[in-house]
Amino acid sequence: MLLEGKIAVVTGASRGIGRAIAATLAAEGATVVVNYQANAAAAEEVVSAITAAGGRALAVAADVSDTAAAEGLIKAAIDAFGHIDIVVNNAGTTRDTLLLSMKEEQWDVVLATNLKSVFNVCKAAARPMLRRKQGGRIINISSVSGIVGQPGQTNYAASKAGIIGFSKSLAKELGSRGITVNVVAPGFVLTDLTAGLSDELVQQTLGYIPLGRWGQAQEIAHAVAFLASDRASYITGEVLRVDGGIGT
Ligand code: NAP
Repeated sequence: MLLEGKIAVVTGASRGIGRAIAATLAAEGATVVVNYQANAAAAEEVVSAITAAGGRALAVAADVSDTAAAEGLIKAAIDAFGHIDIVVNNAGTTRDTLLLSMKEEQWDVVLATNLKSVFNVCKAAARPMLRRKQGGRIINISSVSGIVGQPGQTNYAASKAGIIGFSKSLAKELGSRGITVNVVAPGFVLTDLTAGLSDELVQQTLGYIPLGRWGQAQEIAHAVAFLASDRASYITGEVLRVDGGIGT
C-alpha cells in the first residue's frame, strides 16, 4: 500500500470527487479525516464504507471557508490521530452565470469556498506539519476551468486559477522542509456539482474532449493518491491535469 500509516485530511469528502479521494487514500493505508460542511449523513456513510473495508476514518464538520472552523478541523484531526501527513483541499462549489448578471454574493461565496478555504486549511496545517519535521504532502484541487477559462465561470475560474498561483508559491515556501504542494486539475466529472448541466451541454463537451468522455471521480483520486505517496517525492509546484486532454 502506498500510504500505510499516514494521516490524511480531505476537505469536502462527503460526496463526489472528495469521497473517491477519501476512499482511495484509505484503501492505500491512510487514516482519513472526512471533512464536510452540512451533509453529516453522507460523511458518516463514507466513514462506514472505509471502516467496512478495513480502514480508519473520522467525519469532521467544518465550513472551511471560515478561518476559525478550518483551524478547528486541523485541531480535531491532530487531537484524534496525533499529526497530519497529507492535506487534500477538495471542497468546492459553483455559482455559474455570465459576468453581467453575476451578483456580488455569487462572486464572494465561490471565492471563499474554493480559494479562501485553501488559504485557511494550508495555514492551519502547515505549522504543525513543519513543527513535526517529517515533511508532508499538500494537494489542492483546481479545475481545467482555472487553466483555460469557461463562459459563465469568471468567479469559479478565478478561484481555481488562484489555487494554482497559491500552490506554486507555497511549494517554494515549504520545499526546503520536505513538504510538497501540488495541484490536480480535473476536467468534467459527473457529480452533484455538474448534475445540473443540460444534456445538450454535456454532448457539446464530448466534442472537444480528446478522450471523448467525461472522467470518473476515481480517476481523479488515483492522481491524488500518487501525489500523496513517496512515488511523487521529487514533484512539487506541479499542476497535474486529469481532464481527458481538454486543457491542452
Ligand atoms: P460536489 O459533488 O458538489 O461535492 C462538494 C463537496 O464539498 C461536498 O462534500 C460538500 O460538503 C463540500 N463542501 C462544499 N462547501 C464546503 C465548505 N464550505 N466547507 C467544507 N466542505 C464543503 O463537488 P465535486 O464535483 O465532487 O467537486 C470536488 C472538487 O473538484 C471541487 O473543488 C470542484 O471545484 C473540483 N472540480 C470538479 C469538477 C467536476 O466536473 N465535478 C471538475 C473540476 C474540478 P456537503 O456534502 O456537506 O455539502
